[in-house]
Amino acid sequence: MITTFQTVAAHLAEVTAEQIGRCHRITDFQAKPVVDFYKVENERGDLNADGEILEYEVRYEAELGFSCTCKSGQYGFHNVHHASGVCKHVRWSVAAAIEERQAMQEIAHKQAAEEEARRQDLEAGTRPHRLEIAGREATPREYARVMAAQGTPPTEAEIKRDQKCYAPKPFKII
Ligand SMILES: [Zn+2]
Repeated sequence: MITTFQTVAAHLAEVTAEQIGRCHRITDFQAKPVVDFYKVENERGDLNADGEILEYEVRYEAELGFSCTCKSGQYGFHNVHHASGVCKHVRWSVAAAIEERQAMQEIAHKQAAEEEARRQDLEAGTRPHRLEIAGREATPREYARVMAAQGTPPTEAEIKRDQKCYAPKPFKII
């Protein structure tokens, strides 16, 4: 049975910010289709043959599930007793992915709010009247509602009719 992202995501309670910090997302543009994977610095500070910090690669494939290049991952996580069923590098990577996703969402929400504020400013700039509600500039919706409530200007026929009604009547005693 394949361990899904959701399964691992449900077992991340003990992952620390420092551990998430050891994960770096890499996008492999050479792969078709393009894939994302994580490079995870080893915890002991071991160096590789080039004297660089040793990193493990955590990947996810739909048919195979998670894989990691660490010892445990090479043996299909056979020695893992953790409820997630995967090594710590996979858990940290999943935590990092969730954190990144949340950060992206926050950025998207902030951009949408800024965009909306800019749109309202622009729209307010083109208004023939300034409208304030409770001490602040009316939103486009409020503005449209108030302006619509003013009604349409009277037609020529309506003006003529009203003029007739209110025209002074000739004063007669008899
Ligand atoms: Zn691992």
